[in-house]
Amino acid sequence: MPKIECTCGNIIGLSEIPSPNQLLIISDENFDEVYADCIDPDKLYEKFNIVAKCKVCGRLHVFWNGFDKDPIIYKPE
Ligand SMILES: [Zn+2]
Repeated sequence: MPKIECTCGNIIGLSEIPSPNQLLIISDENFDEVYADCIDPDKLYEKFNIVAKCKVCGRLHVFWNGFDKDPIIYKPE
C-alpha cells in the first residue's frame, strides 16, 4: 500500500522505506512475547501495527488488522 488518502483530502505517502509518515506501535504483551525470545528484527516487526500519520490534520490511521483491512482513524481533539 504505497499511499492512502486521509479524510481531510491529504495523500499520505507510505512508499519510502523508512517512511517519514509511518509510525509503529506494539502492545506491551506482544513486545514482551517477542523480546523474551530474542531481538530478531523481522519477528519484532511482524508484531507492530502500522500507523500512517497525516501531516496536515494529525489524524492517525491505525491498521490494527493489517494493510488488507481498513484502518481505524483517530482525530486529535
Ligand atoms: Zn489529514
